[in-house]
Amino acid sequence: MYTLRFRAYASPDVLRELKSQLRLLCEAYNTLRYADITFHERDGKWLNKTELRQLALNLRRQDPDYQRVHSQVFQNVADRYCEARDRFLQGLARFPREKKPERYRSLVYPQSGWKILSTRPARSGKKSWIYLSLSGLGVFKVLVHRPLPDSVSRVAVKVTPTNKLFVSFLVEGDLHVQTENTGKVAALDLGISHLLVTSDGHYVDNPRFLERALLKYRSLSRLLSRKRKGSSNWEKARLRLARLLERVINAKTDFYYKLANALAKRYDVLVIEDLNVVKMTRDGSRTLNRHLRDVSFSRFSFILKWVFQKHGKEVLQVNPAYSSQTCSRCGKKHHLSLSDRVITCQCGLVLDRDLNASLNLLRRAGWEPPVEPVEMRPLWQASSMKQEAPPFRAG
Ligand SMILES: [Zn+2]
Repeated sequence: MYTLRFRAYASPDVLRELKSQLRLLCEAYNTLRYADITFHERDGKWLNKTELRQLALNLRRQDPDYQRVHSQVFQNVADRYCEARDRFLQGLARFPREKKPERYRSLVYPQSGWKILSTRPARSGKKSWIYLSLSGLGVFKVLVHRPLPDSVSRVAVKVTPTNKLFVSFLVEGDLHVQTENTGKVAALDLGISHLLVTSDGHYVDNPRFLERALLKYRSLSRLLSRKRKGSSNWEKARLRLARLLERVINAKTDFYYKLANALAKRYDVLVIEDLNVVKMTRDGSRTLNRHLRDVSFSRFSFILKWVFQKHGKEVLQVNPAYSSQTCSRCGKKHHLSLSDRVITCQCGLVLDRDLNASLNLLRRAGWEPPVEPVEMRPLWQASSMKQEAPPFRAG
């Protein structure tokens, strides 16, 4: 299964109704969460998916406002809560928090309630408009840049903090891309000084536009904090910050996809660190940079897995504990501080710290690292990097 996501447009009335329904769904989510906690306190048992769905239906039956929302969309809130709670029960996430209305931004039509009324070519030629009718909401114009397969199994609508609309179609089946096998295997060390270093000596630096955006982000959020919450100047500052974030996230995602595609063309198997293990072994003291690193890396490794799978290739995840502190030649453990860029071992190994770490990851996945030391070189030429990085406009 894969998702196709497109920009969409709707009339002000439809947008207003969408936002109103999102508020109702948020309220229902919090009610279900509260009911689940209450039942658990009384009986020591969590509600299962069927019970939560039934509860959602009962809620809807009692309230005419809730009945404006399509019944399946309403029931889907139960699934959403149930999945979040189950991730907690499996030890993968914290207990789902109470949702704030401003952060509840999407709704899902799981099977029915949506219908494609018509399709017509857009003026630009390559793209086309799909007129999508969503029961209880109205008609959305969706700008699609590729044909929609018949096997769409569900539709989701999202509204961003800057009031942009996106429609996602979940499609059954696999999206396969024919890519030649290269016989090459590499491990990636994801880092801060370099975005990544491969075990065969290629590196990619953190794209410049992210650093510039981070500075801009700091100054805008300081500006926001000085305004009175709810005032019109505060609202203006909030919108500027939200637009910046949106652009950064888009630019970053775009960059990650290009990078992942380049890697999938070059390697058949990629070894990366298992981020779930990282999270579990890490203590509570997390700095902001650590946090940002984790968020970016889990996003990037998600994209890597998805792109490699699409190319019929493989991503292996291994435990990264001490990978940067261990000599990749003899296995001796060293104490490196974060500022030590090179590992020097009694066995004669002198190597870039990140390259050494990637060699350890490679070995943990069952491959023998190359004996000859490799020279570090960029994965892309500096000139092509500039082209690859999407333009980023400040402001
Ligand atoms: Zn050694």
